[in-house]
Amino acid sequence: MQKGNISVQTENIFPIIKQFLYSDQDIFLRELVSNAVDATNKLKALSSKGVYKEEVGDTTIDVIVNETEKTITIRDRGIGMSEEEVNKYLNQVAFSSASEFLEKYKTESIIGHFGLGFYSAFMVAKRVEVVTKSHQGTPAVKWSCEGDPEYTLEPAEKQERGTDIILHVSDDAEEFLKKDTIQGLLDKYCKFLSVPIRFGTKTETVPVEDAKEDDEEKTKSIEVDNIVNNPNPLWKKSPSELKDEDYINFYNELYPMAEKPMFWIHLNIDFPFNLTGVLYFPKVKNSLEVQKNKVHLYSNQVYVTDNVSEIVPEFLTLLHGVIDSPDIPLNVSRSYLQSDKNVKKITSYITKKVADKLNELFKKDRKMFESKWADLGLFVKYGMVTEEKFYDKAKSFALLENINNEYFTIDEYKEKIEATQKDKHDKIVNIYTYNKDEHHTYINAATNKGYDVLNFDNVIDNHFMQQLEYKLGDVTFVRVDSDTPDNLVQKDETVESVMSEKEQEKVKGLFEAILDKGKETLQLKPLSANDAPVLITKPEFMRRMKEMQSMQGMSAMMPDMYNVVINTNHPVVAQKLATSESEDDNKKLTQYLYNLALLNQNMLKGEQLSKFTAETIALLQK
Ligand code: ADP
Repeated sequence: MQKGNISVQTENIFPIIKQFLYSDQDIFLRELVSNAVDATNKLKALSSKGVYKEEVGDTTIDVIVNETEKTITIRDRGIGMSEEEVNKYLNQVAFSSASEFLEKYKTESIIGHFGLGFYSAFMVAKRVEVVTKSHQGTPAVKWSCEGDPEYTLEPAEKQERGTDIILHVSDDAEEFLKKDTIQGLLDKYCKFLSVPIRFGTKTETVPVEDAKEDDEEKTKSIEVDNIVNNPNPLWKKSPSELKDEDYINFYNELYPMAEKPMFWIHLNIDFPFNLTGVLYFPKVKNSLEVQKNKVHLYSNQVYVTDNVSEIVPEFLTLLHGVIDSPDIPLNVSRSYLQSDKNVKKITSYITKKVADKLNELFKKDRKMFESKWADLGLFVKYGMVTEEKFYDKAKSFALLENINNEYFTIDEYKEKIEATQKDKHDKIVNIYTYNKDEHHTYINAATNKGYDVLNFDNVIDNHFMQQLEYKLGDVTFVRVDSDTPDNLVQKDETVESVMSEKEQEKVKGLFEAILDKGKETLQLKPLSANDAPVLITKPEFMRRMKEMQSMQGMSAMMPDMYNVVINTNHPVVAQKLATSESEDDNKKLTQYLYNLALLNQNMLKGEQLSKFTAETIALLQK
């Protein structure tokens, strides 16, 4: 038997490996099984080149748990190692890559903790044995190490080619001897590895062959290999050999509980970087948070992470599916990733693909595209607000919906509105509502004046219209209950008031007496007789600022400001209020009109509302 020291380094890395982030202990199995996959693929490559001339045979990888011996064995039938190679690869290469990993890990947060390699075995094992026989036919050897820099190397009995990694599980890691734990880890990390992986057997129910009509048992239970992975996942196949059904089935495999996706994109590129994958468009609906972290990142079919926010633009994290790229550097810090050249190229490739797909769908079948807008809108708008490049592409297919459920592209809508507003305002004024019911009166008033009203009820619409205003320059959005521009009074419609100056002063006085000057401003305006007598409007700019603040959790930094607009052409104001002599009646009427305006804005609440209702009933009884 030969003894040796793994490294001349003074620092002992084993204690560090052992302590390595408890939550990430899991990854040992991924690291060891993917080594087994590599060794198998290397053998296949040698065989196909004719370098390895013997029969390759079955290359299924076995994961074996022995609860009584307290061992986990990972067995492959790959290239194996000679004594020399064990010395080189395990004692030097693997050791220094583990040291390097831990060095990096100390200072940086590494994506999915990918690449600790062989020595991750010591996260769960107090002793690791490697029994291996090289494909070159050299004698089998056994390497053994107890988690300190000393190892032993001795001849071993092993007939078949390949490597057994035997983990003697340490006392504090015994949970990994449970079948369910290992099955769970294999499902998570190894589901799509490219070589079949067997974890014992499982029971399957099959029909009894040539069962007779009157036989009691038509099915029977048999033990079959428990193959945990699908070595040929959909994203690795050519799109031409796949049907819609295949994509949907694969989606269900990834997200068993999720609703059917709307459509998908198959990604496949090998220059200037290698990337494959499938991205699905889920029904995003109207919420940003719940959806994220569903895109799974793989590297050569090895699961890395489902937190891809540093690799793809944020809006793309609303998508589902798989991205597989060996060209994403996983051993660097997350912050470094964003500045990495390859990652940048990958990002813009995916962004472009997504935009192209949406554009294609829009062009091919606009009706269908419109019908899906409720589920697509958030995604597209989010992309347009956050990614310049996506904005440029999406501008041609992003849709605006009005309250009559008609859809327009941004340019179409601009043209439509421009035509109705010739010279009325300095900018093109787009009117919107976030709630048809709440703004009913205001919408009526606006449509009566010939305005179209957009439906902006998406969580992102505030940001979206800000972006459009900024990008388009000559367009402004105002909520239908806003004071800009000028209560929608049209410039050429400069109506005069039927009230005299003196009458106006009187009415002004009446309202001033009941308003809260800190929050409300009073305006007298000669609107049309068909408009409401008193109207409450909210300054667009202030309201938006406030909404932005509250979205960012800075509540109530700004007071709730609004305007009380008195319509000096409404008969109730111009005739009754202006002329009546009874001070008491005037006070009551002023309050009543004001309350009506509040009611219209959904601002009359609590005691005020009860009083108002009681008053109205009393009035009806007179
Ligand atoms: P990496 O796989 O990133 O190279 P590891 O620390 O996991 O780093 O492994 C180091 C080396 O040990 C591998 O490159 C390989 O040559 C060898 N090795 C590890 N596991 C096996 C195995 N199951 N069969 C053959 N060689 C292996």
